[in-house]
Amino acid sequence: MSDYKLGLEYALEQDQNDELKSYRNQFHIPKDKYGNEWVYMTGNSLGLQPKQTKTYINQELEDWANLGVEGHTEGKTPWLPYHESLTESMAKVVGAKPIEVVVMNTLTANLHFMMVSFYKPTKSRYKILVESDIFPSDKYAVESQLRHHGFDDKEGLVLWKPRKNEKLLKYEDLEHILEDIGDEIALIMIGGVNYYTGQFFDLKRITKLGHNYGCKVGFDCAHGAGNVILNLHDSGADFAVWCTYKYLNSGPGSLAGCFVHERYANRNDLNRFTGWWSHNKETRFNMREEFDQLPGAEGWQLSNPPILSMGAIKASLDMFQKISIEKLFKKTKKLTGYFEFLINQLKEDTIHIITPKNPNERGCQLSIQVKNADKTLHNKLTEAGVISDWREPDVIRCAPVPLYNSFEDVYRLVENLKAILNE
Ligand SMILES: *Cc1c(COP(=O)(O)O)cnc(C)c1O
Repeated sequence: MSDYKLGLEYALEQDQNDELKSYRNQFHIPKDKYGNEWVYMTGNSLGLQPKQTKTYINQELEDWANLGVEGHTEGKTPWLPYHESLTESMAKVVGAKPIEVVVMNTLTANLHFMMVSFYKPTKSRYKILVESDIFPSDKYAVESQLRHHGFDDKEGLVLWKPRKNEKLLKYEDLEHILEDIGDEIALIMIGGVNYYTGQFFDLKRITKLGHNYGCKVGFDCAHGAGNVILNLHDSGADFAVWCTYKYLNSGPGSLAGCFVHERYANRNDLNRFTGWWSHNKETRFNMREEFDQLPGAEGWQLSNPPILSMGAIKASLDMFQKISIEKLFKKTKKLTGYFEFLINQLKEDTIHIITPKNPNERGCQLSIQVKNADKTLHNKLTEAGVISDWREPDVIRCAPVPLYNSFEDVYRLVENLKAILNE
């Protein structure tokens, strides 16, 4: 895509021709104290609020006010099977079959519940392989699983690292680790899109490799869900988890998603933690039955879920259904490509994009390393109404989200960055 052009005019023209342009209006865009819309580049951290979210949540508040406990069966979307109303659309977003997907709990909690089932260490095979720049919560989670099973969390953690002076991971290096100690690794747990570099991994390739060596393979897709085409079913992964408050715009701390591959749908022999929501729906309320496992990912639920949060997820997923992740990703390639083009006009010796150049190996986020910069750069951007994310020591992460960010946003971001760097 070398037909990008400099100048505001070009950006405005692209926005005019954008087939998704109407969606920006369906979001609340935060404004500064003068009433100017922020350039919001942190949808990878907390997605903006769709205007229809309030309506969906109000519906549940009303059903609760008017129906009390009867809302479980008589509500507009009855609460007992409420999560089922999310399954199909969530499955589409992550490229899975409905039986493989459930919305429940929160992200790190789901990761633990998946490890209860898929991390089954033995004396000789107990290690967990992760990427070296793993998100801290995931690192703490896998370390605590190692300790929980009586292993040393340093010795048991295997890091897939970038080569010296590089940032991105190479599959050949993963292959070498597995050739060396594949039979000691019980679980491979990778961030599907790395939160720091924005590198989108080949989930199928990693899964195949891991399975060849007898490892279980799971992905944390917090930065992938709603951002890239995940094809979780085809990847063959054993499990995946993700949150809904980043690219899925479902509000701070909202419920998370969980994928368990179809081949486990009826496996009652797997170790797992259970609750009444893992039990057969037909007999759940008889209360005195022997435990009867629900098939599929739903069988990993424990509790009756918070409906208000699910209302927000429903509001967001209804929007994703109208557009499709494929259409969003098409705009991402164009919008993030434009972002990359503009950044590459700036001084090459001070500024460097660490995210992969190949548009199929990234989502909308670019991680930009700025030489000799510190957090003042980020603070100055914020003062100028550009909301970005700073990672010490010198990386700024910006994610133009195809649903609500414009080419003009990207233009203004880079203009501000240029002005600050030229000071
Ligand atoms: C955002 C994010 C988290 C956050 O975990 P919560 O349990 O939702 O607080 C964890 N892991 C990754 C990879 C993330 O991107």
